[in-house]
Amino acid sequence: MQKIVRSAVIGAMLLLGSTQAQADATNPKIGFSIDDLRVERWARDRDYFVAAATQLGAKVYVQSADASEQKQIAQIENLIARGVDVLVVVPYNATVLNNAIKEAKKAKIKVVSYDRLALNSDLDAYISFDNKAVGEMQARGVVQVQPKGNYYLLGGAPTDNNAKILREGQMAVLQPLIDKGDIKVVGKQWVKEWSPSEALAIVENALTASGNKIDAIVASNDTIAGGAIQALAAQKLSGKVAVSGQDADLAAVRRVLAGTQAMTVYKPLKLLAGEAAKLSVQLVRNQKPAFNAQYDNGFKKVDTLLLKPTMLTKANINLLVSDGFYTSAQIAGK
Ligand code: BGC
Repeated sequence: MQKIVRSAVIGAMLLLGSTQAQADATNPKIGFSIDDLRVERWARDRDYFVAAATQLGAKVYVQSADASEQKQIAQIENLIARGVDVLVVVPYNATVLNNAIKEAKKAKIKVVSYDRLALNSDLDAYISFDNKAVGEMQARGVVQVQPKGNYYLLGGAPTDNNAKILREGQMAVLQPLIDKGDIKVVGKQWVKEWSPSEALAIVENALTASGNKIDAIVASNDTIAGGAIQALAAQKLSGKVAVSGQDADLAAVRRVLAGTQAMTVYKPLKLLAGEAAKLSVQLVRNQKPAFNAQYDNGFKKVDTLLLKPTMLTKANINLLVSDGFYTSAQIAGK
């Protein structure tokens, strides 16, 4: 019985998909394929995006790939079959989505790369924060606290194009100081899936290998900063080694206030999600979104909208409250 009901529901869904295959400009259907909703920041992106898109008359179908490239490809295929008008993708692996995106384009679906750039793919738009600027802030934030000494570079996921752009930004600040002899890079490692436990293990090993002689860790986001700081704490070094991050994750904000993390970066996700929803709907309505950059993704120069990040230290962390990202009670844990 259950089976019959289920197949009837699937049948109805397919029917819905085929009758609405033509772009519905009034109530566009948006497929939002997110790398990993288990991660704090992406759940916020989803909530803001769905709210903004709904306001614009769109309907959003959200999928989380849970850090699996196979799952993400299957989910994108499923969204195409459902007849979405526009596909918004946060790639888990930047290099493996080109075929799935080709399928979407064949079905006349607009494709938007969200926060992370999908490489070698026929994208209609890319929207993100200025990740090079984020990388520069991370290096500057750490240099402000530890202008000299042994530096460890803890990069993001090797599958994430942002990890590489962040490193470019970091090196733009660090290279002159390395050339001057103020800073020595004693090791570097990319952290698979931006995983905190992976970061913890890497920093544990780095501390052992260097006899604890590390003065600063340029970590590319708050989750891996968390792992790094845990490894430092085990050696009674947290607060003594300058560590960077980004995202203003709640735990990281508390670490900045406690003095165990030198800085984080605030990226107003509501703005990113709102702009992304707007440009997605504009693309379906054949209107031209406002872009301010172009990124070569190996397939084409992709029209891009880059938003501004803000560096946060203990001195200005209250911005998160005045901007409505957290309440003071949330930060205080009450
Ligand atoms: C995002 C960061 C995020 C990281 C891990 C990056 O692509 O830009 O904000 O911390 O992925 O999810």
